[in-house]
Order: sequence, then C-alpha cells, then structure tokens
Amino acid sequence: MNQAVLILIKPDGLKKSLTGNILTRLSETKLEIVASRIVRVPQHLAEEHYKHLKDKPFFPELIKYLRGELHDRRKVMALIYWGKDAIKKCRELAGSTNPEEAEPTSIRGSYGRITTSGVYENVIHVSSNEEEAEREIKLWFQPEEIIVDLYPAKETAEKNCKRKVWA
Ligand code: UDP
Ligand code: MG
Repeated sequence: MNQAVLILIKPDGLKKSLTGNILTRLSETKLEIVASRIVRVPQHLAEEHYKHLKDKPFFPELIKYLRGELHDRRKVMALIYWGKDAIKKCRELAGSTNPEEAEPTSIRGSYGRITTSGVYENVIHVSSNEEEAEREIKLWFQPEEIIVDLYPAKETAEKNCKRKVWA
C-alpha cells in the first residue's frame, strides 16, 4: 500500500552535517521524495507538531530543541517520502525513539544522544502512522509544494493578499 510519511531532519542533524548521510540511508528504501523544504520553525508549529506530548515534563525543552534553540541552528529540513509501506520502512531505518535503545546501525542509534536535561536528540522525525502522517504533512506543507495529490485540496482566490515575488 502506498503511503506518505513526513520526515524532519532536526536541528542537531543539520548542525552535525548529517543531511547527506541521512538522505543516503533513506534512499535505501527506494521511496520517492515528493516534497522538501527548509523551515524556520515558529513556536506554534513546533507546539502543534508535538501536541501529543504537551503534558510531558520535557515538552518545553522539546519545543526549544525542534526550533533549534539548543543548537543555534534555527531550521529543520522537512521532506515527504512516498511509496509502498513508507512509514514502516522509514521508522525501521530511523530506529527507536530513545537513541540508547535504538539499533546501533539505525539513524538514531548511530547519531542520536540523550542530553543532560533528558531530551532525546534523535536527529530525525518520522510520522508514526497514516493518520499522524496526514496531520503532520498538512501542518508542514501546502498542497502546491507537493508534486503528487496526496489529500483532497481546494482552490481559493485571496483578495488583498500580500506576498513577495522576485523584483
Ligand atoms: N522525546 C523525549 N523523551 C521521551 C519521549 C520523546 O525527548 O521520553 C522526544 C524525542 O525527540 C522524540 C520526540 O520527543 O523523537 C517525539 O516523541 P514520540 O513519542 O512521538 O517519538 P517518535 O515518534 O519521534 O519516535
Ligand atoms: Mg512520534
């Protein structure tokens, strides 16, 4: 079954220059990249993305982590991979949430660490199921930024909408 999955290379992955390594590992899946962007993560996006963890004691630190405040790298790389069993394949390559428990050859096992404050810096986010993937993809991407039609979309005409174009 073809699926879409949201991948984020988190700020620690960018700071450690792991983008190439991570994309090479993910290419083992033979899945197709159907969207990508570099994102400066606003507070509301980080909080919405991790809303299932908002009652955890580490939530404020986790939000700082995703926004790059712990690494002086205020950006993440967001990608959508698409293809057969995409979620299972990418989560297997990523490894367990806790980098110390992750398979040593997995992405998180190879590159992750636990900070002294207890946050798992695990270099990569991978959607956990189809429902979460759809919710997350709609948070991070607009329909026109994705080269396939993943979910129903509609056209709107926006009046007086200011946007930047090339000068
Ligand atoms: N996390 C953490 N401590 C925990 C659980 C989660 O620091 O005990 C962080 C970790 O960075 C993880 C993220 O919160 O990737 C989201 O947690 P989730 O349970 O969704 O795990 P994931 O889907 O990323 O494996
Ligand atoms: Mg998750």
